[in-house]
Amino acid sequence: MKTWYSEITFSTKKRREVVDLTDEVLAEVRKSGIKNGLLVVQLPHATSALVLNEGERGVMHDLLQKLEDLIPTREGYEHDRIDDNAHAHLKSAIVGSSRVLPVVGGRVIRGTWQNFLVIEEDGPRTRRLAVFVMGE
Ligand code: ZN
Repeated sequence: MKTWYSEITFSTKKRREVVDLTDEVLAEVRKSGIKNGLLVVQLPHATSALVLNEGERGVMHDLLQKLEDLIPTREGYEHDRIDDNAHAHLKSAIVGSSRVLPVVGGRVIRGTWQNFLVIEEDGPRTRRLAVFVMGE
């Protein structure tokens, strides 16, 4: 069995935004040379989240808006006593920061409208997305 590890470094430009890293993730899987196995994508951050969804401007806006409805930026959270990003921690916690997908015949198995979207909730900053592929 082979393994492959790499990190995609990217910069976010706003406090809250959605970044589509689909091309970058698929390029890493191609580089791995692994045709059958598992892809693990992990965002090693506590104030952003990773989803598989449509990379369309409206969906991206709606994701941000619905998360804000559920967890408003200002709500008197405990963590805001020492930091100003409690909302971002909470959003990251409920959405999650990693995904596992099958790789079959050199292709990542995902839906047509399942792009790799990073939801930034505490930008702007430099982020990393870890890509691990195992298989043969
Ligand atoms: Zn914090």
